[in-house]
Amino acid sequence: MGTFDSACELIVETAQKLVARGYLMATGGNLSLRIEGQDAFAITPSNYDYMKMTPEDVCVLDGDLHLLAGTRPPSVETGMHAAIYRTRRDVHAVIHTHQVYTSALTLIRAPIPALFDEQARFLGRGVAIIPYAPSGTAMLANTVARHVRDHNNAYMMQNHGALVFGHDMQRAIHNVEVLEKCALAYLLALTSGRKVSRIPLAAREVAFAKLRRDQAKIEKGDLKTGGE
Ligand SMILES: [Zn+2]
Repeated sequence: MGTFDSACELIVETAQKLVARGYLMATGGNLSLRIEGQDAFAITPSNYDYMKMTPEDVCVLDGDLHLLAGTRPPSVETGMHAAIYRTRRDVHAVIHTHQVYTSALTLIRAPIPALFDEQARFLGRGVAIIPYAPSGTAMLANTVARHVRDHNNAYMMQNHGALVFGHDMQRAIHNVEVLEKCALAYLLALTSGRKVSRIPLAAREVAFAKLRRDQAKIEKGDLKTGGE
């Protein structure tokens, strides 16, 4: 048993759960988990069937992207994940999917305003669109790092998909689901052609303040992180 076994197991378990729920398709998307107490993270391998994946297929890299464990090439978006962990100390799990309703909103470049209390509490003030950059490039990693400084936990990547964070993997999965629910409701509301109402600004700020308090606890090490 190696040091990274539980992290690699959680990556596989989560990937397969997200396939079963329809958020991940074929080999699209990627996900990672920060390794507790180290400048390192576990991430899905590049272009490999999630349903065939075993913990041995998962890659572990340090912050400078040196491979610490794994035999397969890591996800092409590894640089983006590393940039997120560098920028956001409160983030311990990152999930990138091509989930359909969120992806649809990126095509019409419609950021999601604060529509629901639950959304503001878990995803932040709004779901912004990060401008297009080709997959796997430093340009994409840099653009993402610039946008995630606003402390939100969900973003949309233009003409691409969703990018969701959590202080642990369980919260990241939850946030993927909250995002897709909001995206679908927003799309349906937009198709009506009528004005879409938002939650009051004060309610948004109260909910976002709770999220920020959670994040501050993580940064100080007062709240449990990691897999379970
Ligand atoms: Zn992608």
